[in-house]
Amino acid sequence: MEIKIQQCNSCGSRDLRNILVRDESQKVFVQCRSCGKLVARYVLAHGGYHHAGKDFESFLRSIERDGGIESARDLPSAFENAKQQLHEEYEALKPRLLERYGDNLP
Ligand SMILES: [Zn+2]
Repeated sequence: MEIKIQQCNSCGSRDLRNILVRDESQKVFVQCRSCGKLVARYVLAHGGYHHAGKDFESFLRSIERDGGIESARDLPSAFENAKQQLHEEYEALKPRLLERYGDNLP
């Protein structure tokens, strides 16, 4: 696992904003709040966006917008699996952040 906390390539600021875009695919544009320049753009994999804490209804809407391939019977367990996976991935990230950056995250 490689970890990096993103910063602006132009001014070095870490004060960034994520702009979520949905057109033919889901994208995240990262803009620097300090200088306004574009820092990065991510194109998300199919089903790759998870908003922490969202409810089942919101999960259903995102699956529908994303092409809706899950069968209705499996949706509640798909929701629980997505929540659990998100939680586990984030918990696994915390010790790696501590190892790389110490107590003071940049
Ligand atoms: Zn900047």
